[in-house]
Amino acid sequence: MTDFSKTRALFRLPEGVIYLDGNSLGALPAATPARVAEVVEAEWGRSLIGSWNDHGWIDAPHRIGAKIAPLVGAGEDEVLVADSTSVNLFKLAAAALAARPGRRTILTEPGNFPTDLYILQGLTRLLPDVTIRTAPAEGLADALDEDVALLLLTHVHYRTGVRHDMPALTEAAHGAGALVLWDLSHSAGAVPVDLGGANADLAVGCGYKFLNGGPGAPAFLYVHRDLQAGLASPIQGWLGHAAPFAFGDDYAPAPGIGRFLAGTPPILGMAALEVGVDLMREADMGAIATKSSALFDRFATLMAARCPSLLLLTPVDPARRGSQISFGYPDAYALTQALIARGVIGDYREPAILRFGLTPLTLSHADIWQAVDALADILATEAWRDPRYAERRTVT
Ligand SMILES: *Cc1c(COP(=O)(O)O)cnc(C)c1O
Repeated sequence: MTDFSKTRALFRLPEGVIYLDGNSLGALPAATPARVAEVVEAEWGRSLIGSWNDHGWIDAPHRIGAKIAPLVGAGEDEVLVADSTSVNLFKLAAAALAARPGRRTILTEPGNFPTDLYILQGLTRLLPDVTIRTAPAEGLADALDEDVALLLLTHVHYRTGVRHDMPALTEAAHGAGALVLWDLSHSAGAVPVDLGGANADLAVGCGYKFLNGGPGAPAFLYVHRDLQAGLASPIQGWLGHAAPFAFGDDYAPAPGIGRFLAGTPPILGMAALEVGVDLMREADMGAIATKSSALFDRFATLMAARCPSLLLLTPVDPARRGSQISFGYPDAYALTQALIARGVIGDYREPAILRFGLTPLTLSHADIWQAVDALADILATEAWRDPRYAERRTVT
């Protein structure tokens, strides 16, 4: 059981800040700076190239993948840390299409996270016979037919926090003969995930959100054990080779999940990610989900009473949402900036959405009270109308 009175101290957060953006960039674990310094100074600085063997650098993609596995209900040999989520989407979507010859459709949702859609659009430029079909959540099952090779969905929607029914949709896709690729960017470390229980084929996920791996942390990918030998990565890099240090001229894929490696892993980023993953592994996902739900209910109830002009966009049923709460408001952008100026950090998403990540390891009920207090005051005083809050910076 996780003692939440102690978990905030596992992170370094500035005094006076209420951080409601751990769904976009997870907070800094207190152990990360020393671990990264050790990898730089002792491993790189003193052991130099010998660290690939002596300090386990070469095994990091498999080792950290195996540590992520229980957080997503996968086997240790089914998860690999590599590249970015975007690149992993490309690798797995291309592999899935090649494994369903004759089928020419990729099914996804309109309004899916942009990179998921853009990566598919890029893939169809390389494979001109393949087209993308979109259907809203309630129409997905009907849109599955014998031409669909792949169903690609984001498990928890980045904007609204709506969570798909992974077992039901996976079963529907399998019934139509298609493979399914789940994007777990807003799920891993946020909600309990059971890829194995759902018999999921493929998945990708992000290292820098709820896994607290640091800005631009390496991402992970999952391939069901039974599919690994039959799938090929379209990026045939040397580290995905069966024998990279034989330095042969011809490619031969590594036997298992390792074939989805491309190039040399970024060891400094891997070191930071491993600290974040170790921390999440020690936490109890069931306890996290229960506290996330309580924080959500507190937030929703206070907002309904004190800020009724903001429209709740996230489902109230805990089984149908992730670990965030989103609200619609016409001036959401300025409101978010005014909140940030008071030390309450959430973020803005198009169109007109305020989004708050609920990270039970660092957030208390008092934080939620204070955040809603600040919001109510900004609305009552119309402080958000200050023109400086309307200025858009590059990252929103
Ligand atoms: C954050 C996020 C990504 C991130 O992709 P990167 O390649 O790391 O930039 C991808 N998909 C979803 C659904 C996300 O929320």
